[in-house]
Amino acid sequence: MQSHLSAAHFHSEEAAYEYVEARLWPDGPVCPHCGATREQVGRLRGKTNRIGLCKCYACRKPFTVKIGIVFESSHVPMRVWLQAIYLFCSSKKGISTRQLQRTFQCGLKTAWFLGHRVREAMTELGISSPGPLGGANQVVESDETFIGGKAANRKGKIPPKAAVLSLVERDGRVRSFHVPNVTAQTLRPIMTANVDRASYLMTDESPVYWSIGRQFAGHGAVNHSAEEYVRAYFWHTNTAENYFSILKRGIYGCYFHVSEAHLHRYTAEFDFRHNNRIALGIDDFERADRVLIGAKGKRLTYATPSSRIAGEPPF
Ligand SMILES: [Zn+2]
Repeated sequence: MQSHLSAAHFHSEEAAYEYVEARLWPDGPVCPHCGATREQVGRLRGKTNRIGLCKCYACRKPFTVKIGIVFESSHVPMRVWLQAIYLFCSSKKGISTRQLQRTFQCGLKTAWFLGHRVREAMTELGISSPGPLGGANQVVESDETFIGGKAANRKGKIPPKAAVLSLVERDGRVRSFHVPNVTAQTLRPIMTANVDRASYLMTDESPVYWSIGRQFAGHGAVNHSAEEYVRAYFWHTNTAENYFSILKRGIYGCYFHVSEAHLHRYTAEFDFRHNNRIALGIDDFERADRVLIGAKGKRLTYATPSSRIAGEPPF
């Protein structure tokens, strides 16, 4: 039996660095300060040197592969980053901060930031194709759900539920947005920017879609209130409903409470796993490698931003 968790890069710091370098520097070390490569870069292999330390002879600065990626300036060992990424990638409903804390025997704050940095690496930018969803002869389902616990379980003032809009290609990708409300005015710019106009749009019968629907090649509206969930195998929003069921089971069953300020990070995590799922031929290791690629060029500091509601600038 060869457990995935036996892989060397989860246990040895040297192997962890080699693993990350092989994926981020396929042609050898690249200086993050000036972009120098090959013979302009040397490795410092002395016993007193940090693992993975390189020196740039062009700009004379030292560096490792950790610089310029979401793990930069953290004291968490590289092998633990790789363990965390693997856990997030192999758990369909996510991993809670408490679970990370117990598994890694670290502080709550460290566990929280580990989780959010992995989520940051999972944000779509740089991982899957950024182009619009759908296209000619393709169906894109658009649906909304509301996230927030039952009023009876919450103390004090009850915050309103947060709305999430998901645009889902049948047999393809998903893109989710935390939206301030579900109105035609709010949804229109998001849908115009993210769905190819040649697509066939499938929604529920909500009037917010009446006018937007005319922008697409076709628009089918399912009448949920009349219990008409599936009509002729084509008019349905089950792909979006199935996606929401995993998102909700994850958020309620694993994360319990997600603050509105961080909701977009959780939806990015669930979008990522959906867009890189086994049905598309992507296994747990391949998915984890994609997170590493996504970690490049992103940094998340402790002074993170508050809310990100779709339509507002990211940070
Ligand atoms: Zn340099």
